[in-house]
Amino acid sequence: MSIDRVREYLADKGAADRILEFEVSSATVELAALAVGVEGARIAKTLSFHVGEDVVLVVCAGDARINNRAFKDRFAVKKVKMLSHDEAEELVGHAVGGVCPFAVNPGVQVYLDESLRRFDTVFPACGSSNSAIEVSPDELEQLCEADGWVDVCTLPSAPVPATTVVTTALISCVLLGCLLFAGCEREEPVAVTHEPTPTFTELSDAEPTPEQIAARQAREEEAARQAAEAARQQRLAELWDELDVQRDMRDNLDHGPKGAEYQKYIVLHDTEGSSSGSSVISWWAGNGNQVAAHFVIDKDGTIWQCVEIDRIAHHAGFGDAGHNDYYGVADESRDDKAGTKPIGSWAPDYGMNSYSVGIEMVHVGDGSGYPEAQLEALDKLIEYIDLYYGFESEIIDHKMWRSGNSDTSAQFAGYLENYRDHRTHD
Ligand SMILES: [Zn+2]
Repeated sequence: MSIDRVREYLADKGAADRILEFEVSSATVELAALAVGVEGARIAKTLSFHVGEDVVLVVCAGDARINNRAFKDRFAVKKVKMLSHDEAEELVGHAVGGVCPFAVNPGVQVYLDESLRRFDTVFPACGSSNSAIEVSPDELEQLCEADGWVDVCTLPSAPVPATTVVTTALISCVLLGCLLFAGCEREEPVAVTHEPTPTFTELSDAEPTPEQIAARQAREEEAARQAAEAARQQRLAELWDELDVQRDMRDNLDHGPKGAEYQKYIVLHDTEGSSSGSSVISWWAGNGNQVAAHFVIDKDGTIWQCVEIDRIAHHAGFGDAGHNDYYGVADESRDDKAGTKPIGSWAPDYGMNSYSVGIEMVHVGDGSGYPEAQLEALDKLIEYIDLYYGFESEIIDHKMWRSGNSDTSAQFAGYLENYRDHRTHD
């Protein structure tokens, strides 16, 4: 188990006896804060990333969030790509929930984020989902033999005392095995104490029984699964915040349930007009054709949405004869086909609409380019859709579905190639 590796590693540095082990899981920032009895911001979380061929760990404060732009600039990458659940265990040496900067696999780089420096001491994990160690930021730098300090996170804009206070009710809920805070009855909040509470036990020298080892492994696996899902949900929420989507939902542009299990493609379009996303949606909703894409991206990067991504929108329309088979889609009764008018026997296939998300860029094919802000918004929206579905939908443009269409424009050709290859425009 990797806590043993961490214990050995820290023993060499004279710090093994400072490892705290808890009766309860500390696999997420929230759980660790409850177990340790401090505010969540002081729980040092370790995030793992692909940087080219390398694996990079960034240790940051519990309330910090990775700032994509700052990360890309600091590590000279085009995309911020976190390790998957399985990769973390294989490439870092610790399973999700216990990922920490100690005793990592050779070659893994460790950076500490400036967000940690706000505190006298912080609590990184120690290789399992129920352990931590209290260290000062400088001690942490020495103990994990960090490659350096970075400033790649953003912090919550204002302190929110209500959420950083540990309540007695919450602690007792965790002790009772209740992991869902929402179900707990809140009592009077108590002030945050920086002293460890009696919810942890010191390391015991007694050999655990096989039953205890098995039970602990099962707990760790479940905690790791929960932590991975919590991390995905957190990243999804962060990305959604960053996208700042302007929602202008229109019932008459929604043609039935797509169902996440049918999602296969992201289809890119040009609006072939210069109107803003807002007025494009009004026009779609009012012109009687009931044709629309899920999203429209303005030239300044503002993203508009008019149909939920798990609902069907008629953005792809009819495609070439044989394209249902070619793309592995089918005309489905999930699609109400409202407003559709056949355009000829050369283009009878309609399946793409039931298997895709449509994104329009405000653009006229007159030789003008696509502004960086618009392309960066598209990068991030694609990242969101990928994370939402948990896989990478194939990216095509409208003319790949219906030959003879003029979108996307010739100016987009290079970007389309990049998107289809590595999912960003550059
Ligand atoms: Zn189109």
